[in-house]
Amino acid sequence: MSDAPSIVWFRDDLRVADHPALHAAIERGAPMVCVYVLDEESRGIRPLGGAARWWLHGSLTALADALDQHSGRLVLRRGPADRVIRALVDETRAGAVFWNRRYGGPERDLDARLKQALRDDGLVVESYAANLLFEPWTIRTAQGTPFSVFTPFWRACRSAPEPRHPLPAPNGADAITPADAATDDLDDWDLLPTHPDWAGGLRDAWTPGADAAHARLRDFLDDDLVDYADGRDVPSEAATSRLSPHLRWGELSPYEVWHAVRERRSDGAGASRFLTELGWREFAWHVLFHAPDLATRNWRAEFDAFPWPRLHPTALRAWEEGRTGVPLVDAGMRELWSTGTMHNRVRMVTASFLTKNLLVDWRRGEQWFWDTLVDADAASNPFNWQWVAGSGADAAPYFRVFNPELQATKFDPDGVYVKRWVPEAGTDEYPEPIVDLKETREAALAAYEHVKAAR
Ligand code: FAD
Repeated sequence: MSDAPSIVWFRDDLRVADHPALHAAIERGAPMVCVYVLDEESRGIRPLGGAARWWLHGSLTALADALDQHSGRLVLRRGPADRVIRALVDETRAGAVFWNRRYGGPERDLDARLKQALRDDGLVVESYAANLLFEPWTIRTAQGTPFSVFTPFWRACRSAPEPRHPLPAPNGADAITPADAATDDLDDWDLLPTHPDWAGGLRDAWTPGADAAHARLRDFLDDDLVDYADGRDVPSEAATSRLSPHLRWGELSPYEVWHAVRERRSDGAGASRFLTELGWREFAWHVLFHAPDLATRNWRAEFDAFPWPRLHPTALRAWEEGRTGVPLVDAGMRELWSTGTMHNRVRMVTASFLTKNLLVDWRRGEQWFWDTLVDADAASNPFNWQWVAGSGADAAPYFRVFNPELQATKFDPDGVYVKRWVPEAGTDEYPEPIVDLKETREAALAAYEHVKAAR
């Protein structure tokens, strides 16, 4: 065995349990540099939104604590990741580099180039599957092409070998021997908002980090899984797992979630529905893997013919700020601004309202969610926006324009959710809707005729 240190490069996997790259470095036995690189410079890598930066600060603090419990140390560096990692290799005379895979286009290109360059220099470089249950290239149609429809995709996943069991956390207080390397001070990265500090609602709603993620998973399994299939559509109830940001940052691995749920198979319909939702996460990444520009380009090319009218900035701002005069839409947008999340049902309603009733290009809405969601990820966010807008993979048929009033009657019949976020709804203080729902629906359907003609 060589004594030359191992570098473990942490990315969207801010945990120590079920971390194949960390596991491999421990097995190798040499001293270790555990590094996170804040990369805001590499070409094509999308800069994090504000809510995501807030989360990252908390998550890195938690990861540093977790490594410390095994005598490890988290090293923080900033800059273009390939240059930073190569500099760290030179500085520490590392002999091996390990990481868990990423699936976005620019990230994959960077990782592939770096892997080759380091191997050419004689280093051991290994990457692992850790953040998806099924590697996107392993799930294919009978013709060998990627899937574009969820149901057969998920059927193919379910007939593939069962996802592996999670790996254990490092064993014991001295499982890691840290190698010497200087680190940035996390506070110098200015990830937290200060002027103004808008993160109070996020702090109230969330605790980033693996410990909180595991506690959340346990509570969800004990209290909500059994009724998940029915409860998941009711925005006033905390009936869903709220695991999405923890999964986004990899504080918890999908393998851990998968097997924890499988062990509760007795929870029948709830468990199976929940696993299907994890399947949607897999599908979003599958689609992104094969269409890396999902956040900027219509997945269905015929939507390039959609005649988006000139942007009406006041309407967009009213939507962002939850002042459209449509109670369910305003409730969702205010929940988002305040807490960094929004219930899935209401995400669909607000996205439909923006793209169809206000006829604002889905990319505008996607960008707003990117900036304000703590769970914003490069696959799920554009995938779902395109799903609602009609331009995406396995998308809702275009004519399915969500009616926010009917949705409220059905899923918030007593108005509990709306009253929580829009207490003035129904009083004189509350504005009239900024658009007529029926007229704008018809205008949207008329605009869609251009897409039909382009098919
Ligand atoms: P649960 O109902 O408990 O579901 C369990 C897990 O399954 C979630 O944590 C998530 O990882 C996954 N999941 C569930 N539904 C979906 C879905 N439709 N697509 C992908 N994964 C899913 N989810 C994100 O994680 N990041 C995003 O940036 C994101 N943007 C969205 C934008 C729009 C316009 C819409 C309509 C949905 C978006 N979603 C996104 C999907 C979904 O709303 C959230 O995953 C869900 O609300 C998170 O809450 P939960 O963890 O309680 O979900």
